[in-house]
Amino acid sequence: MNRNLTQALESWIAQGCRSIGQIKITPRPEGGYELRHAEDCDRNDLATYTEATDARALSFFDDANAYRPLKTAPTLRHGWLLNLPDATALRHALDYFYPSMTALWFSHLRGELRLVPLRETLDRQTGMYAVAKRLRDDEGQKLVAWHCVLEKCMKRTLWNFAPGQPLTHLAKEARTLPSGADAPGFQEIPLICQEACNHLVPACRETVKKRERLESAESPQTPQNNAAT
Ligand code: SF4
Repeated sequence: MNRNLTQALESWIAQGCRSIGQIKITPRPEGGYELRHAEDCDRNDLATYTEATDARALSFFDDANAYRPLKTAPTLRHGWLLNLPDATALRHALDYFYPSMTALWFSHLRGELRLVPLRETLDRQTGMYAVAKRLRDDEGQKLVAWHCVLEKCMKRTLWNFAPGQPLTHLAKEARTLPSGADAPGFQEIPLICQEACNHLVPACRETVKKRERLESAESPQTPQNNAAT
């Protein structure tokens, strides 16, 4: 899979693909690739790095040195240039910046991507997260619209709320691929959300717990309860 993915990545770039997320990819005439923040293309004061593993540290913090808990948030730091010798190093570096995103795109192009509806993700939660199974549809739809907007996460949310039940509150551009995204010679590797992440699932849990706390506080007390208090 990795070797196939590396070859696919090489081929996408040879056909004109030049970006992923906030990163600009430039093939070098002498071989290898340069990566930089897409908004840094006109800068000549960038700090140069040469190892794929440097991408890991570059992905951790934003321009204000705040930790980035979500790698696909549009908060990638500026000011760096990463020189990579070959497509294998490029694949590794992109995996540090955007974990699994090139592999998911590869699966999508091969028609092998399995999208997991939110209900299925919640239904298999156990332990402290099992509460999330009791999320109501209206709560879930609003929560997804709040968490998965492109301003907060650049992934395209392709899963449904439940089988046959689409997302209704999230803006269409955040739940569909850009038009022509997978046409031959595509320019950009889209970031795909295949399944609710470990930020959204805890938020589902919190929503249920908050509602149930309120319901419990508002429910009339029984005579036994009154006697006990
Ligand atoms: S569920 Fe997917 S789209 Fe939503 S915030 Fe998490 S990673 Fe981003």
